[in-house]
Amino acid sequence: MYRRLRARGGAWDMIVVGGGATGAGVAIDAASRGYDVLLLEQSDFGKGTSSRSTKLVHGGVRYLEQGNLSLVMEALKERGLLLQNAPHLVRNLGFVVPNYDWWETPFYGIGLKLYNLLAGKYGFGASRILSREETLERLPTIKTGGLKGGVVYFDGQFDDSRLLINLVTTAFEQGATLLNYARVTGILKDGEGFADGVRFRDLESGEEMEARARVVINATGPFADDLRRVADPAAQPMIAPSQGIHLVFDGSFLAADSAIMVPHTSDGRVMFAIPWHGHIVVGTTDTAVERAALEPVALEQEVDFILQTAALYLARKPERADVLSAFAGIRPLVRAGEGGNTAALSRDHTIRIENSGMITVCGGKWTTYRHMAEDCVNQAATLARLPDKPCVTGHLNIHGFHTAPEKLGHLWVYGSDAPLIQELEQGTAAWAEPLDAALPYTAAEVVWAVRHELALTVEDVLARRTRALFLDARAALRMAPRVAEVMAREMGKGAAWQSAQLAAFQDVAKGYVLE
Ligand SMILES: Cc1cc2nc3c(=O)[nH]c(=O)nc-3n(C[C@H](O)[C@H](O)[C@H](O)COP(=O)(O)OP(=O)(O)OC[C@H]3O[C@@H](n4cnc5c(N)ncnc54)[C@H](O)[C@@H]3O)c2cc1C
Repeated sequence: MYRRLRARGGAWDMIVVGGGATGAGVAIDAASRGYDVLLLEQSDFGKGTSSRSTKLVHGGVRYLEQGNLSLVMEALKERGLLLQNAPHLVRNLGFVVPNYDWWETPFYGIGLKLYNLLAGKYGFGASRILSREETLERLPTIKTGGLKGGVVYFDGQFDDSRLLINLVTTAFEQGATLLNYARVTGILKDGEGFADGVRFRDLESGEEMEARARVVINATGPFADDLRRVADPAAQPMIAPSQGIHLVFDGSFLAADSAIMVPHTSDGRVMFAIPWHGHIVVGTTDTAVERAALEPVALEQEVDFILQTAALYLARKPERADVLSAFAGIRPLVRAGEGGNTAALSRDHTIRIENSGMITVCGGKWTTYRHMAEDCVNQAATLARLPDKPCVTGHLNIHGFHTAPEKLGHLWVYGSDAPLIQELEQGTAAWAEPLDAALPYTAAEVVWAVRHELALTVEDVLARRTRALFLDARAALRMAPRVAEVMAREMGKGAAWQSAQLAAFQDVAKGYVLE
C-alpha cells in the first residue's frame, strides 16, 4: 500500500479519512466509478463502531414503530442488495417475538406483516403468527410460564468486521489505496482556505506524510467532530455519541437457530438475543456519553440491565460469571438540537459540506453503508468538479462472494478465500489445529490474516480477522501467545515485539472480561 502511495505523484481525486463501514464503502464506490482514492485509518480497519454492532442487516423494526417508513424501506432494499452481493457473510435469520400477553400477538403480527411488505422484491420471507407450541419449537430455552405464542419474522445477520475486511479488499481490487495505522493529524488548505489534502502519521514508522486531493471526506463516525475541529476550530458539534453494549454467552442458553426479539424492554427499547458463531449475543443498550472512545468499556449499569432483561426471557438465568465477552460500541448519531434521549435521535445519514469544503458523512447504520457511500461520492464528485460517473455498487460482488458457504466448514466466513486457507492448513500440520479448544480458529487463519488481510497486531487478528475476543475473551487471551509467535515468524519480528504485542492485547482484552 505504501508502495502504491509513493508511486503516485499528484493529487488524489478523493481522500477518505476513517476505515469503518462508511469509509470503506466510500472507497469502493469511488474506486469502482474510476476515481483515484486514498483511505487512511488511524487504527485497524473496523476498530471503531463497525466491529461492535448487533450483527444485524436489517430495516429496523423499531423505526417502523416510529413511523419512519421511508427509512425502513431504504434499509430493507440495502439488506436485499447486501445478501445479493455478499451471500457468504449475510444470512436470513428467523426472529421470534415471544408474547406473554393476549393482545401482543395480533399487535406485533400486523406490524411485522408491514415490515415484510415494505421490503417488496427484496423480502426475506413472510412473518407468521406462532402458536405456543411453535414458539417453543423455535425457542426451546425460553421461559414457558404465561407464554401465549409468538410472531416470527425474518431479517439479515452478518459478521461485521469480516464484511469490513472484505470491503477493504474489494476497494483495493477496484484500485483504491487503503492504509491502516495511518492517523490524519491535519487538514491542508489551498490559498483560499479550502481543504485540499491531509497530513498524516504512519503509526508503524512514525513518519509524517502529506497527501493532496481534490476533495477530503471525513468518514470518522463517532469521531467526526474531532476532525471537523481540526479543519475548523470553530465547528459546532454535530455528533451525539451513544454507547451500546452486548454480552456474549455460550450457545446453550438459546440452543436454537432463531433469535429472540424483545420489542419493549423496561426502559422502552428493543433487545435481541441472537445466535452467532455458536454463541449468543445479547444486547443492546443506548447510553448517551460525553465523548467517543476508541476502546469503550461496558458500564456496570448496562451489564446489569442486560442480565436482568435476559433473565425475564431465558429459562436458565444467565449470571455475570456466564458472560464470555462484553463489548461496547459508540453510535455516531447526528444531533437533533438539545435533549438527552439518544434512542430517539435520527438513524438516517447526514452528508455535510463544511466551510472548508471538506465533506463529513456520518450517521446511518451498517446496513445502509452502500447507499451512504453512493450519496457521498455523488456530492464529492460534484464539489471536486470530477467528470460524472455512475455508481455501480448496487450489483458489485464483494470479495469472498460465495453462494454456498455452508460447504466450507469452519472457514465459511472467508467465502471464496476458504480453499486457499485450507491449502495452508493442509501444507503445515501445526497450522490446522485449533488454537484453543473453545473456538475453531487455526494458525492458518493467522497466517492468512498477515499475508492477505493487512493484520499488523495480535489484536487485529483476535478481534477483527477472527472474532475470538468478541466471542470468548478468556479464550482469546489464552490464544494470544501462539498468535504472537505465528505472526512474529511471518512478519520477521523478534521476542521484544511479541512481548509488547501481548501486553497491548492483554490491556485491551481486560475490558471484555467481567470480573
Ligand atoms: C451498539 C451498536 C449496535 C449496532 N448494531 C447495528 C446493527 O445491528 N446493524 C446495523 O446496520 N447497524 C448497527 N449499528 C450501527 C453501525 O455499527 C454504525 O452505523 C457503523 O458501524 C458506523 O460506521 P462508521 O464507519 O461511520 O464509523 P466507525 O466504524 O467508528 O469508523 C470510523 C473510523 O474512523 C477512524 N478515525 C477516527 N479519527 C481518525 C483520524 N484522525 N485519522 C484516521 N482515522 C480516523 C476510527 O479509528 C474508526 O475506525 C450499531 C451501532 C452500535 C453502537
